[in-house]
Amino acid sequence: MIVVLTGGTGGAKFVQGLRQIVPPQQVAYIVNTGDDLRWWGLHVSPDVDSILYALAGRLSRERGWGVEADTFECLEIMRQLGQPSWFQLGDRDLATHLLRTQLLSEGSTLAKANADIARRFGIESQVLVMSNERVETRVQTPSAELSFQEYFVRERYAVEVRGVRFDGAEQAKPAPGVIESIMAAEKIILAPSNPVTSIGPILAVPGIRQALQQTPAAIAAISPIIGEAAVSGPAAALMKTQGWPVSIVGIAQAYRDFLDLLVCDIEDADRQHDVEQLGIAVSCTRTLMRSDADKQALARATLEATESAAVTAT
Ligand code: GDP
Repeated sequence: MIVVLTGGTGGAKFVQGLRQIVPPQQVAYIVNTGDDLRWWGLHVSPDVDSILYALAGRLSRERGWGVEADTFECLEIMRQLGQPSWFQLGDRDLATHLLRTQLLSEGSTLAKANADIARRFGIESQVLVMSNERVETRVQTPSAELSFQEYFVRERYAVEVRGVRFDGAEQAKPAPGVIESIMAAEKIILAPSNPVTSIGPILAVPGIRQALQQTPAAIAAISPIIGEAAVSGPAAALMKTQGWPVSIVGIAQAYRDFLDLLVCDIEDADRQHDVEQLGIAVSCTRTLMRSDADKQALARATLEATESAAVTAT
């Protein structure tokens, strides 16, 4: 069994590769819900949706989020009706949020609602949320505290960040199956997701980090940082708020208490030694995922390197 911890963008690209090379029943995904938001009265789980669409073969290739070939008619009418329109929900995408909100209002937990939606999309992998309870990523800026989507989408992450906190995390419990799958896994992979706002909220749910420290599984992470920059998004600015260097060394520091292997780009081979000094093995490969072939090659290289790391550790 393979368990993947993931956010939405870099994670979804990796998932698109992994699903091509591993039977779906052998993989469970633990997905960040710290970015969830209420929008037009609907419960939207942006990272879960990206993973669902990636697994269902419906993710928009052009945008990297939302549904392939979607239209935005509803968004335009809502804008004309004076509703906020900075968060873009496509017409096809809306069906997922309507169904999730309906299932939640009928008494389903978030985990059950998403598992139900995954099944209806024909997904055979397990898609787990990190927690059924509300854990909300809050981004502290000089003038206000923002939700992640306000920071990321509305402000296009152009504002200064002073800190990040996960509201509700202390009272949250891991969703059913999360700890069990971590403890029973052979391999655990942290997708090339933002370590602060995608993997950070998952690790903030009490019990998940401890399970990663205790599991006999080999644990690998793929670096979302190449050289001294994120491939996309605000990971660099957010890592600085945690005191982590913006490099593969910073990624290693973020996960050093449980990580066995860091998969990094060949461009970072000269930093390999600095990570190994932290007691973490390193495997260098091409980690930039532009094409389907890139995604599959990275998934394959990661699984092979994790296998070797597990053999070396035993
Ligand atoms: P979010 O929830 O939308 O922020 O999604 P993720 O956290 O899963 O993805 C964002 C991270 O993915 C960023 O830190 C990027 O640097 C990283 N990323 C995006 N594309 C790639 C890629 O092709 N290769 C690697 N290595 N990282 C990537």
